[in-house]
Amino acid sequence: MPTNIHHWIDNTEFPGSGGEFAPITNPATGAITGRVALADVDDARAVIAAAAAAFPAWRDTSLAKRTTILFRFRELLNERKGELAEIITSEHGKVVPDALGEVSRGQEVVEFACGIPHLLKGGFTENASTNVDAFSIRQPVGPVGIISPFNFPAMVPMWFFPIAIAAGNTVVLKPSEKDPSASLWLARLWKDAGLPDGVFNVLQGDKTAVDELLENPSIKAISFVGSTPIAQYVYATGTAAGKRVQSLGGAKNHAIVLPDADLDLAADAMVNAGFGSAGERCMAISALVAVGGVADELVHKIAERTRTLTTGDGTAGADMGPLVTKEHRDRVSAYVDAGEAAGATIVVDGREVRPAGDAGGFWLGPTLIDNATTDMSIYTDEIFGPVLVVVRVDSYDEALELINANPYGNGTAIFTNDGGAARRFQNEVEVGMVGINVPIPVPMAYYSFGGWKNSLFGDTHAHGTEGVDFFTRAKAVTSRWLDPSHGGLNLGFPRNT
Ligand code: NAD
Repeated sequence: MPTNIHHWIDNTEFPGSGGEFAPITNPATGAITGRVALADVDDARAVIAAAAAAFPAWRDTSLAKRTTILFRFRELLNERKGELAEIITSEHGKVVPDALGEVSRGQEVVEFACGIPHLLKGGFTENASTNVDAFSIRQPVGPVGIISPFNFPAMVPMWFFPIAIAAGNTVVLKPSEKDPSASLWLARLWKDAGLPDGVFNVLQGDKTAVDELLENPSIKAISFVGSTPIAQYVYATGTAAGKRVQSLGGAKNHAIVLPDADLDLAADAMVNAGFGSAGERCMAISALVAVGGVADELVHKIAERTRTLTTGDGTAGADMGPLVTKEHRDRVSAYVDAGEAAGATIVVDGREVRPAGDAGGFWLGPTLIDNATTDMSIYTDEIFGPVLVVVRVDSYDEALELINANPYGNGTAIFTNDGGAARRFQNEVEVGMVGINVPIPVPMAYYSFGGWKNSLFGDTHAHGTEGVDFFTRAKAVTSRWLDPSHGGLNLGFPRNT
């Protein structure tokens, strides 16, 4: 019997109106394992109201008490993260070690947020004017909405909510309706850690829930992660409603391999970054730009490695799991058809995969495509599957031009042994996150995560100090304690003396 996955308010499951539901499938079998509630407007308002009601008390809770809860949350997460990884695998399909990796990267943000007392420290200037002190403080913005994609059901929400909560905000998380169970597991963990009612809430649903978060005046800020068209919509709608919005979109990440690179290192990296999590990562390398005469040998090395990968059930030791839904698998597979029809060379064909798993799973094996050109849809579009396309160019300049002309600017990497070339690349490339001999350069929690161009709309990136800035408002205070020498009327603009 499939279980119902509900909303979460005041540290309790909230069934809501019980109107519409959407099915949840296990991608490795195709079986329906649950159904998730799709909020109507009243459900959304009820969840938002809980976050709004909890805000005044949480905002005034001391940093000492807030951080005690955060430390407890971190300890519980660390002890029990295996449970969360299994939940992720059962709804997303990624293999369990990869799911554990995602939880660990989220945990790093929790650890960063445990240092919030230091991060919130303002500046203080004594005697800015005679007997006048000036100082700055940062205050929480209020109830905030976090809207997350299917591909990281734990890590992406954790890019935001540990910092939001640590800084004194209350949260409504709207997870992807494709894999919503991780959100409830995290909500229960907050309860176990002692978080007061209403500080962390979950709203299940689709566009209706998102639109209410964007329009409802109680919500003061929105962190969104998803595909570019929806990210643009969320940014435009949320800012028009007067909210602070950071909206992270899609990607097409290129890796350049220069002729002097260590080709074995580069080939390993391309396979890991192209096919890990079945390519359903916003930082996956999906376009390999082979410079000069490097392509033949490099493609050969990648193909050799790709053919050794096993595709199968993520709980049973396979290298790569299924795709998230049947529709998504079919869409990715259609891109491979289109590339073939357009004249690209299919070097390893994932459509012929023999999975180690149930025939009902949403399988597509790792696919390597050579001789792609920039007019083919396999190059222009974000495919978001296990498809690595190779574009051959003659020079570094041509490779750089290709990347900088691309509308996305999330992640990129260069493989070379030439420090000067790497340095030039980090300086010239118009992309937000750059790897040098590192294929998936996801910044550490204490730096900030975010792309450029169509990969991010807004001014601040996720986590790190930019995350703290996003979830707080700055206030500058000028103060004087009574001193008779400063009395008297003066209508002039205040001057420092
Ligand atoms: P998606 O855009 O379909 O969904 C993201 C969120 O938006 C979900 O919560 C969904 O319920 C909601 N949503 C969907 N349609 C909507 C609509 N019409 N109106 C309002 N809300 C809507 O994305 P996805 O398929 O879940 O995730 C994959 C995408 O996310 C890829 O494009 C990937 O590159 C991107 N992504 C980007 C980053 C990043 O850091 N830039 C990280 C992870 C994923």
